[in-house]
Amino acid sequence: MTIRPLLFCSIAQFFALIFATPVLAAPRAADPAAGQRFIEQCKGKETFDDPAPPVRVFGNVWYVGTCNVTVLLLTSPKGHVLIDSATREAAPQILANIKAAGFDPKDVRWIISSHEHFDHVGGLAFLKEATGAEVVVRDAAEAIFRSGTVSPADPQVQEIHGFDPVTPDRLMKAGQTLHAGPLRLTMLATPGHTEGSTSWTWQSCTGADCQKFTYLDSISALQLGSYRFRDHPERVAMFNATFGMIDKMDCGIVLTPHPAVSAVAQRMAGIEPLFKKEDCRVIVKSARARLDAALLP
Ligand SMILES: [Zn+2]
Repeated sequence: MTIRPLLFCSIAQFFALIFATPVLAAPRAADPAAGQRFIEQCKGKETFDDPAPPVRVFGNVWYVGTCNVTVLLLTSPKGHVLIDSATREAAPQILANIKAAGFDPKDVRWIISSHEHFDHVGGLAFLKEATGAEVVVRDAAEAIFRSGTVSPADPQVQEIHGFDPVTPDRLMKAGQTLHAGPLRLTMLATPGHTEGSTSWTWQSCTGADCQKFTYLDSISALQLGSYRFRDHPERVAMFNATFGMIDKMDCGIVLTPHPAVSAVAQRMAGIEPLFKKEDCRVIVKSARARLDAALLP
């Protein structure tokens, strides 16, 4: 009988067993002082292009973006992955930040993206050229990357501009994993904000402390010009499916394409915990409220 040993377990033995189980410490920001410098430099800065210093987030994960647009560098001895490219105007700063962090931009071998809007992929063509990296794109967004034009079905199409077109080197489908040297990044489809909206998950370690990361793409319902979500039930259904999926995810440490959405600066500076179990659900809750408000007559 398998439970029998427990019957002979004394109270003292029981507690010894409980306390012998290692309690995992909460992950800590790698460089709170650099996070503080980021906050100082970005105070009151509201544009996409305000320069920010690079900050090591955790392990091999570096923030190399601007004050208001995230770009991540995931490093490895076999080449690095860049996640997002910011605007065309900010792209030279991204290169400078990679160098300031101590890495060679020529060692960036893969560039992946969140979604096909100028603030996240405007610098992609420039950075592809500057690094020689392979551009990996989700199949659903291929046509938009190739044309650089905003999708006619995009809720923001009437008021935002396109970006320099890029020829993808590789297409992936949602659920597939990118093998980038020793790095493994799994692609998730999180459409709504754009049709090609893409989130990524991976694991990063500091010594034996390994943490799951989710780069959760924008899921905000933004309708510009005369576009109204209530005229587009297919877009509302797309958002709701994405919300439902993220609600069920175990996201680990969450980072977002606009750092303010997930308090990235405060977390890099150690002011807020790097990991909060409810992060993904909190972001979904506010995105749902925003969509509901947009649907009101
Ligand atoms: Zn966007």
